[in-house]
Amino acid sequence: MSATSGEKPIAFLDLPAQQKRLGPALKKRIDTVLEHCRFVLGPEVTELEERLAAWSGVGHCVGVSSGTDALQIVMMAENIGPGDAVFLPAFTYTATAEVPLVLGATPVFVDVDPQTFQIDPASLRARIAAVKAAGKLTPRAIVGVDLFGQPAPWEELRAIAAEERLFLLDDCAQAFGGVYRGRPLGGEAVATTLSFFPSKPLGGYGDGGAILTDDAERAELYRSLRTHGEGKTRYEVLRTGMNGRLDTLQAAVLLAKLDGFREELARREAIACAYDAGLAGVAQVPVRVPESASAWAIYSILLKDEAQRAATQARMRDAGVPSAIYYPLPLHHQPAYRDHHDGVALPVSEALSKRILALPIHPELTDAEVARVISAVRG
Ligand SMILES: *Cc1c(COP(=O)(O)O)cnc(C)c1O
Repeated sequence: MSATSGEKPIAFLDLPAQQKRLGPALKKRIDTVLEHCRFVLGPEVTELEERLAAWSGVGHCVGVSSGTDALQIVMMAENIGPGDAVFLPAFTYTATAEVPLVLGATPVFVDVDPQTFQIDPASLRARIAAVKAAGKLTPRAIVGVDLFGQPAPWEELRAIAAEERLFLLDDCAQAFGGVYRGRPLGGEAVATTLSFFPSKPLGGYGDGGAILTDDAERAELYRSLRTHGEGKTRYEVLRTGMNGRLDTLQAAVLLAKLDGFREELARREAIACAYDAGLAGVAQVPVRVPESASAWAIYSILLKDEAQRAATQARMRDAGVPSAIYYPLPLHHQPAYRDHHDGVALPVSEALSKRILALPIHPELTDAEVARVISAVRG
């Protein structure tokens, strides 16, 4: 057992090693900001916005304070509020569901695909039909989440959104750097939201986020909303907004990280392939969405049941190998959300929560550490 035999525990996220790898380029970027002191909406924010828009092949990028605020700004721009239904997967991070509620709207939870864990179009159609039949809420928007770094089923989501006249939003917090049908993620929906939380594939050293869109009018609205609803001048207030700007220091960190981001993505992919090969037959390894490349925010395996997962996690812990559970409860069972749920069973999300287990996949992992993870899972 490595924890007792002197082998160094493996980190789930290794920010000290990452800093060492980035080296002087990171310090130089930060020092530049300390010199010019334009800490709010400084030149690094504009530079980052331009580079992210170019990366994704979309017209506009608006840097904001977090992935959660990105979702909120996009929904505020659509006037989503009381009486509105926002359809989103039950198997995702809490922020996706939190934002509609903060705005007074109702999240309507949709089940996910048992293979890819992405939102299930058949369940989405059923949930929309149920809301329409009940007649209490107005269907307004669909949030597709690119879960764990892989794309949601965008063709089907776009078709359903068009048929039902719903606004389509991509919560891409976990998947910037991913590719779908030859295109970088970022242009699949009317608006795409990113998060730069430190553990995301493109992570900063604090909170941060961005909104991508091809729609110039919406981009301008997002810029206004992130700065208190301001108009052409700072003291013209056109609408109720928020303080939701991306910090200049975070933009500087992200610019330094962006230079080596392609190599990081390649390293994550190599680790994923090594896990696939080493764990096939012991657990269900991630099923790839066809014609896509994952950003590998999270690499999750499926164990047989809750007991096998607990045993695997304990064995890994003893070997100094970390693991995590995304997500231990589907959102419709969370105390904060269950009273907003209509009680419908979402069996895939419920079953996944009991069997899923995430392995470390950050780019600083060495081949020897990857081998240790595999042998700890295999037991
Ligand atoms: C991380 C995350 C968010 C929220 O991003 P923050 O920057 O932490 O606010 C939203 N949605 C999903 C799916 C996430 O994983």
